[in-house]
Amino acid sequence: MSDSLRSAIRNVVDFPKPGIIFKDITPILSNGALFRESIDLLCATAGGVKIDKVVGIDARGFIFAAAVADRLGAGFIPVRKKGKLPWQTLEASYSLEYGDSIVQLHKDAIQPGESILLVDDLLATGGTAAAAVQLLEELGANLIGISVLIELCFLNGREKLSPHTVHSILTYE
Ligand code: AMP
Repeated sequence: MSDSLRSAIRNVVDFPKPGIIFKDITPILSNGALFRESIDLLCATAGGVKIDKVVGIDARGFIFAAAVADRLGAGFIPVRKKGKLPWQTLEASYSLEYGDSIVQLHKDAIQPGESILLVDDLLATGGTAAAAVQLLEELGANLIGISVLIELCFLNGREKLSPHTVHSILTYE
C-alpha cells in the first residue's frame, strides 16, 4: 500500500542547499486518498495503546501530528522553533549542518506519566527529534514511540533516539 505514498514523494535536488535531496511531501498532502493513507499508517504505529497527547515538530510535523491526534482522540502539542510559543517554555538545542538550533515546549503542555506519541514528517540525523525527546523526558512523559512518515536510514538518526521505539512508514537506504 505504501508504494503509492513512496511514488508520490518528490525528490527536490539541492534544496534548500547544495547536496541535500529534499523529500517533498506536498503531493501526499494534496491527494485526499494518500493523505488519509499516511495518517492511517501513522495511527497504526500506536499499536492500539491509548495515547493522551500527540506531539508534533515544527513545521511539517504539525500537519501529520494534528491529524493523528484527532483520529486517536488525543490532544495535540506543538514543539516549536525558539521564539514562537507565547507561554513559559522549556528549551533544548541541537546541531544542524551549520550551527545550532533551539526548540521549545510549553512547560505545562504535558503532565507527568501521560502517554505521548511524537510525530514528524521525516527523520534525518535525528537531532530535532532527540531535542524534542529531551523536552518530553524533562516533563516526565511516558513516550510510547516516535513515528515518522519518512526515515533516511543512511543518516542513522534512530541511534540518537535509543532506547525509544522508532516507527517509520517509508525508509530510504
Ligand atoms: P534531523 O534533525 O536531521 O533529523 O532533521 C529532521 C528535520 O529536518 C525534519 O523535521 C524534516 O522536516 C527536516 N528534514 C531534514 N532533512 C530533510 C530532507 N532531506 N527532506 C525533507 N525534510 C528534511
